[in-house]
Order: sequence, then structure tokens, then C-alpha cells
Amino acid sequence: TMSVNVIGAGLAGSEAAWQIAKRGVPVNLYEMRPVKNTPAHHTNQFAELVCTNSLRANGLSNAVGLLKEEMRRTDSLIMRAADAHAVPAGGALAVDRGPFSQAVTDALTNLPNVTIHREELTAFPEGITVVATGPLTSPGLAQAIKDLNGDDGLYFYDAAAPILDEASIDMTKVYRKSRYDKGTADYLNCPMTEEEFHDFYEALIHAEVAESHDFEKEKFFDGCMPIEVMAKRGERTMLFGPLKPVGLEDPRTGKRPYAVVQLRQDNAVGSLYNIVGFQTHLKWGEQKRVFSMIPGLEHVAIVRYGVMHRNTFMNAPLVLAPTYESLKQSHLFFAGQMTGVEGYVESAASGMVSGINAARTAQGLEPIIFPEDTEVGAMAHYITHADPKHFQPMNANYGIMPKLDHKVRDKKTRNLELADRALAALADFQHVTTEQPA
Ligand code: FAD
Repeated sequence: TMSVNVIGAGLAGSEAAWQIAKRGVPVNLYEMRPVKNTPAHHTNQFAELVCTNSLRANGLSNAVGLLKEEMRRTDSLIMRAADAHAVPAGGALAVDRGPFSQAVTDALTNLPNVTIHREELTAFPEGITVVATGPLTSPGLAQAIKDLNGDDGLYFYDAAAPILDEASIDMTKVYRKSRYDKGTADYLNCPMTEEEFHDFYEALIHAEVAESHDFEKEKFFDGCMPIEVMAKRGERTMLFGPLKPVGLEDPRTGKRPYAVVQLRQDNAVGSLYNIVGFQTHLKWGEQKRVFSMIPGLEHVAIVRYGVMHRNTFMNAPLVLAPTYESLKQSHLFFAGQMTGVEGYVESAASGMVSGINAARTAQGLEPIIFPEDTEVGAMAHYITHADPKHFQPMNANYGIMPKLDHKVRDKKTRNLELADRALAALADFQHVTTEQPA
């Protein structure tokens, strides 16, 4: 049988290798640790969790909980190990990180058709390959990816503004308008009085910033300075930057507000908005507290918090298919954080799809696209259909799934209905995910 190469035995690569091997396809798994390390890993185990030991919410009212359940039902190795080594964490799934990673390492080591190579690759090997080298991809391989994808195809720094669920924005307080009414009125505008602006400014400059890892102490590029750093330059600085009110007169009063926060549509269906210019290094709880002071965002649901850290990720809408196969080179698949999904579970989920498709290619079957009604499918759809001009990595969330065909006011009820629909769609799709060649 034809074999498949997997580069990187992190969350995504380990899951991909598992999905390939259990379909009877031989795997060559390349992991550079411990021969060469990354700035964040500390062990030589596979699927090491570089930060928190939490895999976030486990319940179906949260999209990352649904994602986990879909993975369990697709026989995910990462979920098997996580469930086996869970530690008490309320509604979240947290794991005992050492035994968790050891279980993943052992499972792959014990598979007779997985050959493990402890070495760094700096070029794509011949044959069907899954690249899953993560946010800290070694520079040599990053160059190879850049050469493949072209100049706009790979980023090295993630400075992302928070992304909001449209349904949680108070539409009675905001208005739709573009600056000077140029083009279509694509922005939602949150007007502030002088007093509201002052209170917001005070809260922002005193808010708690996330602790940064040594390797993250990089200088800020123009145009992606954290909003709190800009604010600290002086009370009026933001009024000449992202909060500039000129050309944004409120059509309801005809007057120009003292300051305006703009929200930009983030996905084609308009269920998500980002806060323009609000890349930030604030702690997540602080983002929620301080940004809820913006008129219209009092009850906002943040589906993806703002972050600033080193992150190698590609401009997936330009270079990737929803099968996770490269648009630039056939038989080359990508998986994990580098595809523009964000988070441990999301990375593993993309590895699952990428692995299934690499195995299918080796078996002479067509690659598959998961139904968009599943969270696995919605993620693949999002990263390959988002606006490439503003592409930023995305967490699992219900805002990226197709809407229900009826209105449900209560958010939890709505999410549970979306979860039901997703699991039904996955059940209908199971004969495809488990298909074996004739
Ligand atoms: P990884 O798990 O990093 O796996 C990539 C693997 O490839 C590594 O084992 C690496 O050694 C190997 N490798 C790299 N280059 C090569 C090469 N050239 N040849 C061979 N092997 C190579 N997500 C969360 O959900 N929660 C968090 O708390 C969290 N914290 C994070 C903190 C930091 C500092 C970073 C950078 C990311 C964090 N993330 C977090 C984001 C993301 O979920 C993790 O980075 C996750 O590990 C990504 O999975 P992955 O499989 O894409 O990459």
C-alpha cells in the first residue's frame, strides 16, 4: 500500500497519524523534538499541551463541546486520551497533561504501521504528506511553506481583535454606516459620549495584560499595536486612530459622536463581527469586562478573544481546500493551528479531517468535506471561505454554522438545537468517514 508522511506529532499531527494508520495505511511520522525544540514545548512527548491543561467546555451548549463530541464519534485518539485522563474541572474537560501526552505517544508507538522518525524536516518529502508543524513551525520548513504559498500566504504573528457574535450586539444602540458614507454601509458603529469615552479609556489603561512568554517579546508592527498600548500614549490618541468619529455622524441625530468604535463584518453570512483596530494583549476576562463598556456591547458574546503572539498560520482562504488539501500542490495536506484554526481541540479536529483525507488519497478514494452543519465542517468552511484580506485564526463557535430555519430566542436552547442538527448530520455522514476501498 502507498504510505503517508505526517510532519509534526503535536495535537493535529498525532490525530492525523492515528486516523491514517487505523485505516490500514502505513505512516511515516516525523517529529523534531527532542533533537530540536520549540520555544514553548518542554517534553519529547507527542501532543504536548504547551499552556493550559484545559481543553475548554465539554457540554453541547458550547461549540467546542460539540466539536469534541463529533471527534469522539469519529474515533479520535486525542479525545480518547483526553477522556481517559480527565481531571475534575467543572463544565470543562481538563486533563492530566503528562499521562495524556504519554497515552497519545504510546498509542502511536504501538501501532505496527506507524514508523516514528525523530528529525526535523525542512522540505516536503515525496508522496502524500500531512504538514502539521504548528504555530512554532521550525524556520526551515516555514520557508518551504512560504515558497509554496507565495508572499501573502503565510503569517508569523497573530495580532487579532476580538470577534463577536452578532446576535449579542444591542442593535438599538449601534448604527450601520461607512465613514463618509463611502461604498456600502458595511460597519456597525458604537457611538460614545465624552463621558463614556473617558470611563472606557480609564478602564482600558488600567486593565490587566496577559503575561507574555519570552519569545513573544517582539516589537509591535505598525498597524497592529495593541489597543491598550495605543491608549497609554495619551487620552486623545485613540480618537485619531480606531475611535476616530469624523465621517461617522449618527444618522439618528445628525450629530458626530465624541468617539466611535467600529465593528466590521467577519464572515460572509454576517453572524460575526470584529472590533476594528482592537488587537489586544489584555487577559480574556478583562477583554470581556472592558469591551462590555462600549455602547451596544453591554451583553456581548466574544467568540474569539483578541490575541497577540507568535503564530505561523497560512492565509487559508487563498491556499487551502475544505478537505485541508493544498490548492497549490495536490497530495499535500495541512493540519492544525497553521491552517488558521485556533486551539488545542480545533487543531486536533483539523488533523482528523486531514488524516482521513490523506488516507483516502492513499487508498484511491476521493477526499471528503464534512457537512457544514457539523462543527468540524463549519470550521473547514470558515477558514477556506473567510475574507483573505482580514483572515485571522478562528476558534470553534456556533456563529460559523448555518443558521437554524426558525428563530430561537434563548441562546442555550438555540445552541443545543444546532448541536442536535450537527450530530444528526454526522450520523448521516458516518458511512463516508468509515468507508474502506472495495
Ligand atoms: P503543535 O501541537 O505545536 O505540534 C506541532 C509539532 O510539530 C510540534 O511537536 C513540533 O515540535 C513539531 N515540528 C515543528 N516543526 C517541525 C519540523 N520542521 N519537522 C518536524 N517536526 C516539527 N491553545 C489552546 O487551546 N489553549 C491554550 O492554552 C493554548 N496556549 C498556547 C500557548 C502558546 C505559547 C502557543 C504558541 C499556542 C497556544 N495554543 C493554545 C494554540 C494551539 O492550540 C496550540 O499551539 C496547539 O498545540 C496547536 O496544535 P498543532 O498540532 O497545530 O501544533
